[in-house]
Amino acid sequence: MKVNPTYQTKESLIELHNKPLLELVFEAATIHRQYHNPREVQMSSLLSIKTGGCSEDCGYCPQAARYHTDVEAHKLMTVESVIEQAKNAKSNGSSRLCMGAAWREVRDNKDFDNVIEMVQAVNDLDMEVCCTLGMMNEQQAVRLKQAGLFAYNHNLDSSPEFYGDVISTREYEDRLNTIDNARKAGITVCSGGIIGMGEAIEDRIGLLMSYMKMENPPESIPINALVAVEGTPLEDQKPIEQWEMIRMVATTRIVFPETVVRLSAGRTKMNMEGQALCFLAGAGSIFAGDKLLTTPNPEFNEDKEMFEILGLIPKMAFADGEKPVTIPDEIIIERKRKEAERALELEAAKGQINSDFEPRKIVQVVSN
Ligand code: SF4
Repeated sequence: MKVNPTYQTKESLIELHNKPLLELVFEAATIHRQYHNPREVQMSSLLSIKTGGCSEDCGYCPQAARYHTDVEAHKLMTVESVIEQAKNAKSNGSSRLCMGAAWREVRDNKDFDNVIEMVQAVNDLDMEVCCTLGMMNEQQAVRLKQAGLFAYNHNLDSSPEFYGDVISTREYEDRLNTIDNARKAGITVCSGGIIGMGEAIEDRIGLLMSYMKMENPPESIPINALVAVEGTPLEDQKPIEQWEMIRMVATTRIVFPETVVRLSAGRTKMNMEGQALCFLAGAGSIFAGDKLLTTPNPEFNEDKEMFEILGLIPKMAFADGEKPVTIPDEIIIERKRKEAERALELEAAKGQINSDFEPRKIVQVVSN
């Protein structure tokens, strides 16, 4: 993905970000029109396939086991219920499904096999499939790619300098490695940040600079506003002004003209006018549905109304890339073969028991 050659230094980026707001929006809107259809906005749905109980300490996250929040931990959803939810999201206009699991990292176990099946099934529904499962290695990324994964989400959250103030259980470098593994497997990258965590403008720019340094910057950059949840270390953070969100969306659009900039968490704190300015400034996607993993989000109907009023049209799936081809997963095939073999053995053993079985005769012992 391209980087705008006009803004290469931190100083020039800060100057851009702090421009008079309408000048900034105008510049962003002009660039947006050169690279994208300004009426198209993708509706994506975010589904928490495994909630809570996470061992990490991300200061904004109500799913971290160590914080006392209202989030109830749930084990991994079944493949069938994910398919049902995906169909529901599609019938409401979503062309992308992002499945999130509150894991520190992907482990090679039955749960991951089930995620592979979920990816295959949702890709078969002609939806773009994105996953956010924590850290992953190269082999795991290859399995996801072969299952039909379109994008992997792994946010850098903020600048390298501010990152340590919010998370201590994994390094910035770990995140960069996971993004690299997704890239090497041929999966598109979705990676962005959260504003309103107490960071400075320099940190917001520092986040963008981390993406500028990449050989291939992300195809998708979600911009989130912190939703301060009671019980997390960031519970007392004041909500940001919607102008800050508009500035961040516009700056991201100008710096990465080809990337899809996603207006993500925090929309409930914005009015329609504020969101309209974000679309004008280049936001090309929203998350639809009343929940964003565990935090609130506008209802489907509210968004439909907003689309009508603003004359927006939902973007079709795979408008920005080919639908991935699913390749049968050897590990799942082998597991299913063994399960079928075992079931046959058990069946045979049952038959054996039934045919040979003679009840034991009870001899009554009479004692004198
Ligand atoms: S953001 Fe992800 S890794 Fe961090 S605590 Fe929440 S679920 Fe765990």
